[in-house]
Amino acid sequence: MASSSSGPTPHFTWAELGDPPIAHRVHARHLARHLETLRVILGDRPLTLLSAYRSPERNAAVGGARHSQHLHARAADLRQGVATVTQAERAGFVGIGSVRGWAVHVDVRPGPARRWDYPT
Ligand SMILES: [Zn+2]
Repeated sequence: MASSSSGPTPHFTWAELGDPPIAHRVHARHLARHLETLRVILGDRPLTLLSAYRSPERNAAVGGARHSQHLHARAADLRQGVATVTQAERAGFVGIGSVRGWAVHVDVRPGPARRWDYPT
């Protein structure tokens, strides 16, 4: 388990959150709190993040949306088969992108809830 000094919450390190710059750490902390809630919902097991904060360069390199929540450290991507959309909703995520009912992108964007499905 990561020490509290290496990340914003007990189970997520700044490195796992993509090393967000200081200006975005308040968002990353908010994101991590919801990830901790999701982790509990999933049975208190390790939750691997495929991607969280992305620099503009990194976001462009992976073909991310131009106004992606990842640019603000408000989004995390999960492996398909880990958390359902319902579980992500219970964890309080605002934006949820899914594949066949599995949440693969969760975010804490400001504004109204948004749900979408990625083509498979
Ligand atoms: Zn994403």
